[in-house]
Amino acid sequence: MELNRKPLLLIVDDEPANLHVLVESLGNDYVIKAATNGTDAIGIAQDADKPDLILLDVMMPEISGYEVCKTLKEDETTKDIPVIFVTAMELPEWEVCGLELGAVDYICKPINIGVLKARVSTHIKLKQLQEQLVKLSNQDKLTGISNRRHFDEYFDVEWRRNMRNQTPLTIIMADIDYFKRFNDTYGHLAGDVCLVKVAEVLNSVLQRPGDLAARYGGEEFVGVLSNTNAAGAHQIAEAFRSGVEKLAVPHSGSPLGCVTASCGVAAMVPDAAVLPSELIALADKHLYVAKDSGRNVVISSRERGNELV
Ligand SMILES: [Mg+2]
Repeated sequence: MELNRKPLLLIVDDEPANLHVLVESLGNDYVIKAATNGTDAIGIAQDADKPDLILLDVMMPEISGYEVCKTLKEDETTKDIPVIFVTAMELPEWEVCGLELGAVDYICKPINIGVLKARVSTHIKLKQLQEQLVKLSNQDKLTGISNRRHFDEYFDVEWRRNMRNQTPLTIIMADIDYFKRFNDTYGHLAGDVCLVKVAEVLNSVLQRPGDLAARYGGEEFVGVLSNTNAAGAHQIAEAFRSGVEKLAVPHSGSPLGCVTASCGVAAMVPDAAVLPSELIALADKHLYVAKDSGRNVVISSRERGNELV
């Protein structure tokens, strides 16, 4: 959730009077969306603008709150939204049932507004912390783009998605030319500044949905392009390569005189008979060809005559 806006609550209750009390009590501190039935609640939870927390009644006609919770927890896009049941069903076995369905809390009616506010606030804070942790665990500390761990996870998900859709998945492997010499000449602090600049260029050319820019390790970067063939990715890699050159960072240790990058591009429609690592290996192979052919160049599947898409 963005820190500069009020958290978004979805409140679900089939009784307008109950809904009114909850909206009145929480409306000052939160942005509120309301639903009076389970179907609408699931629809709102699946919106692009996701609620940060859901207050969910149990007894509702057609779809019960328990069923709504079960559906939300089974959906990859909604499973991380905390759910608090707010219900007149006060028996402990009902509470156990609600918590076992994945709810974070269970509040019995009649509601004490002070207790409700405190619990909502606690769970919103926990959600914010969890989101910060996920962000930190995915981010390369120096450059701010994705780290290797996030790349591995993302690549695996996109491999399977593109296999299902029978669409091409492309990898760009990029490496800063003569980077060791750069560090030796200008020092590691200047090297860090250079890495940040190059990462910014990579991030700026990978902005479509499904694109990911990551630091692979050291001075190596990787781009993942979903539903993109080798020719499309070649253009993007070329925009990155020329963008790095245009930074015009002086590099006296390079025959090219400034900081440059070489890229290897490989694309394939993922196939169950092929290991995902083979696509990375192919991009890596093309990167080595780029290094061998004078650097500051993009080599892709298409150019190598072993086109896979
Ligand atoms: Mg009800």
